[in-house]
Amino acid sequence: MNQKRFSIALAGNPNSGKTTIFNNMTGTRQKVGNWPGVTVEKKEGNIKKFGYDLKIIDLPGTYSLTPFTIEEIIARDFVLEERPDVVIDIIDASNLERSLYLATQFREIDCKVLFALNMADVARSRGLKIDDKKLSELLDLPVVFTVGNKNQGIDTLLEKAIELAESSYEIPKKRRVKYSKDIENSISSLKSFLENWTEGSIPYNPRWTAIKLLEDDKIVKKRVLNEAGKNSREILQQAQIHRDFLMDRFDDDPEIVMTDERYGFIAGIIKEVLTTSAKQRIDISRNIDLVLTNRFVGFPIFLFFIWAMFQLTFSLGAYPMEWIDIGVNFVSKSLVHVLPNNLFKDFLLNGVIAGVGSVVIFLPNILILFFCISIFEDTGYMSRAAFLMDKIMHLIGLHGKSFIPMLMGFGCNVPAIMASRTLESEKDRTLTILITPFMSCSAKLPVYIVLAGAFFGARAGSVIFGIYMVGIILSIVTGRLFRSTLLRGADAPFVMELPPYRAPMIKSLLIHMWDRSKIFLKKMGGIILIGSVVVWILSAFPQNISYSLDYNSKISETKASYNAEIETAHESGKKLLAKQRDDAVSELIKAKKTEKAEKSFMGSIGKVLAPVFAPIGIDWRGSIALLTGFVAKEIVVSTMGVLYAADGTEDSAALKNALLSSGMTPLGALAMMVFVLLYMPCLATVAAIRRETGSFKWMIFSVVYSTSLAWIVAFCIYQGGTILAV
Ligand code: GDP
Ligand code: MG
Repeated sequence: MNQKRFSIALAGNPNSGKTTIFNNMTGTRQKVGNWPGVTVEKKEGNIKKFGYDLKIIDLPGTYSLTPFTIEEIIARDFVLEERPDVVIDIIDASNLERSLYLATQFREIDCKVLFALNMADVARSRGLKIDDKKLSELLDLPVVFTVGNKNQGIDTLLEKAIELAESSYEIPKKRRVKYSKDIENSISSLKSFLENWTEGSIPYNPRWTAIKLLEDDKIVKKRVLNEAGKNSREILQQAQIHRDFLMDRFDDDPEIVMTDERYGFIAGIIKEVLTTSAKQRIDISRNIDLVLTNRFVGFPIFLFFIWAMFQLTFSLGAYPMEWIDIGVNFVSKSLVHVLPNNLFKDFLLNGVIAGVGSVVIFLPNILILFFCISIFEDTGYMSRAAFLMDKIMHLIGLHGKSFIPMLMGFGCNVPAIMASRTLESEKDRTLTILITPFMSCSAKLPVYIVLAGAFFGARAGSVIFGIYMVGIILSIVTGRLFRSTLLRGADAPFVMELPPYRAPMIKSLLIHMWDRSKIFLKKMGGIILIGSVVVWILSAFPQNISYSLDYNSKISETKASYNAEIETAHESGKKLLAKQRDDAVSELIKAKKTEKAEKSFMGSIGKVLAPVFAPIGIDWRGSIALLTGFVAKEIVVSTMGVLYAADGTEDSAALKNALLSSGMTPLGALAMMVFVLLYMPCLATVAAIRRETGSFKWMIFSVVYSTSLAWIVAFCIYQGGTILAV
């Protein structure tokens, strides 16, 4: 057998995976002992691979080659004295910067070295991307990715090692640390001094020896003294002169300056080869967090974001809202002309289109709101909000984490209640679920817009803001109450995760927004449609009502008499008369519809409910609107549209006017808004509560508690306000 023999040494930082790779390479053929003279484990193995006899040596783990620790001395001596054919520097790729120090030192010694970028899996999972080609080019050596514990890349590593061993060696001139000018000057003058004055042999490569002498390396000094012949003292003296000179220049030991410069070199390499998406993100995140979670400015910024979110939702949402409004009006107006007058037309216009149409208008607002919430979530700001709210949430006996479902509750309670799943403790979860419905969901907003718009005019915005605040305050009060009674217990300790900020991807934002809006659309097609139809049926039947007045003939009479007048009137008066005629007719139509509504099934139900709602200033029509709101809060507005406006057209201005002339007072409107805010959640939410608490009991409890609270608070507002006003 005439096989070539190569010795391959494995070097690297402790825990970089040397032994793992060594074991992979050698299998069972390994000798374990101690390095001569010291009790540091020595592992060796002989294997045959690719037609070669390979001797593998597992060197002790070191961070550098300065001879301070016994491991460093062993590793360095082995490389310098035993001269293995190849050194494989095993680098922890997830810790490139730390590992490269040793690597640059190997580069300075004249030996054939290649890099194994081990822990490639860890690096990848941390989002570290290493440009191996660039690294290989910059340091002029082969680079192989490996995953030691999965035996990946080990064969390639051996192949490359053999290739390198076979190749003729050229001293890499450029691919190593270049020190600053003064140091380089000293190095080269000391190097030529060594080359010219040494009579024996220079123990190592002259440049490296010069560097070590400048660093005052004891071991190298000793070797020079022993082996460089009769001029060795002059050599050391010369080195000392350079050291003194450099000390004077840098006001520091040359070895320290040179270490710094090596790190500078490493920093340069890192910049070139490492795209540290994750690390940078963490650093940047830390800086952003210095501001966003700051004790003083963090909270105002947070409030600003919330304010901006609502502002965007309503101001930007106003435009598409108008387009949809126009579209719905167009459809219903066209149908008025196209369809024959019958029950089906009434059903389609006043049931389906009036009901669903008055709700679909709010789709843009809801899309925008959910879009904003998705931005908060996808960027990582949501967890900062939770962090900021932690203190306040502790007032309720909950963690900041519970704030996330609550914030989402402003959009829709259903996903909000589902979001409480992330809470570990069951009690925390239940408590969060019980108080989330007080976060006024977007479906309640149309009610506020209509009522506040009608009764509070310019102050509508502040009133609506106030309503939201009432919800937040009552959720805190409720939280405290339940925490000290029904759901007693300490909040479960947990670590608030602050994931690095990420630029949100538009696609993921859209998907998240859509996922949530789907719930809204499903409600629209399902529950709201059904609710609207039921409301319509209850208000359209019974059909043959005995009216207090024969409206139809009265209308014809009115028309006829006006028309007669118009015939005889002057040209100038004709327009005025025509307008008076139309007004009178629509008055009559309205009166007829009101009477019809009053005498419908809906009216009867409303009359039954009226005594319950009278003390809080809400009449029978309002009572019915609230009742239908159980199906979905959006229906409150559409029911009011059917019952108050009663002139058939879907027009929010018309509804406002109708409300103003309905006998409702601003105080009653306020009481109604608060009632809407607090009373039982909609059907979908109730179902979610049942699902997420896993308990029928909690569901019933939530319905009863919130409705009672709503009545009591509305009562206090209405009665209190009435007393104050007197
Ligand atoms: P040494 O100190 O350099 O000899 O490192 P070891 O070989 O003892 O390895 C340290 C730890 O890292 C062990 O738990 C190995 O299983 C693990 N390890 C080694 N290589 C890899 C790798 O590529 N990926 C991962 N995830 N773990 C590794
Ligand atoms: Mg080891």
